Amino acid sequence: MSTLEIKGLRAAVAGKEILTGIDLTVRRGEVHAVMGPNGAGKSTLSAVIMGKPGYEVLGGTVTLDGEDMLALPTWQRAVRGLHLVMQYPTEVPGVHVDEVLAEALAARGRDVSALGDIIRTEAGRINFDADLVARALNVDFSGGEKKRNETLQLGVLAPRFAVLDELDSGLDIDALRDCARRVEAATHESNLGVLAITHYVRLLEELKPDAVHILVAGRIVKSGGPELADVLERDGYAAFA
Ligand code: ADP
Ligand code: MG
Repeated sequence: MSTLEIKGLRAAVAGKEILTGIDLTVRRGEVHAVMGPNGAGKSTLSAVIMGKPGYEVLGGTVTLDGEDMLALPTWQRAVRGLHLVMQYPTEVPGVHVDEVLAEALAARGRDVSALGDIIRTEAGRINFDADLVARALNVDFSGGEKKRNETLQLGVLAPRFAVLDELDSGLDIDALRDCARRVEAATHESNLGVLAITHYVRLLEELKPDAVHILVAGRIVKSGGPELADVLERDGYAAFA
């Protein structure tokens, strides 16, 4: 079974250790939620998994089917099947969404001839205005359009594992449902494994997690089933800090 495995991961930003030892294993088709207070290191974890510049790995490993991801540049991690849905999607003036997708598919050695149809189908599934793909990536997109656009990319690229960094932030209820349902569908249709960083049980009602992990001060302090999210909703993080 294909796995994304994080072992003893420690990482620093700006000379300060933020991740102090993360252990997490996600198998394809599984959804793991990571919840934790602001500043716990959730976005740092997503950045280190994907290889965002500026993060120093101090120890530990991130492997996909046994292959060391930390040794690869970001684009090669993506080609291997890792995908990040960003908390704050980057605006890229002059580069259109459909061009990005065509390049990304070509880099994966996949056929791009039917891309227009695939984009229209995917856009329809999440109520995304397909005309937006001819516009510059995320430039002047609303918060909801940005996250729908991120979800569209995930649908088209069909990665093996996705890290969702607060997919729910900046989304209204309809957009949240559309995006979360598309990701949940991918766990069945293409056996997508998901690491879903979130503050809200609302997302997890759509995106049924197999496991919930609580991240506090750079480490996972508790793991459990979906009921753990309800405990957090009721009691907050105080009991785990
Ligand atoms: P979370 O996503 O859980 O809210 P982050 O991973 O964004 O937390 O941040 C964890 C800690 O790392 C915070 O104290 C934050 O200020 C710090 N941090 C993150 N990125 C940087 C950076 N580029 N420079 C300095 N500190 C950073
Ligand atoms: Mg964050």
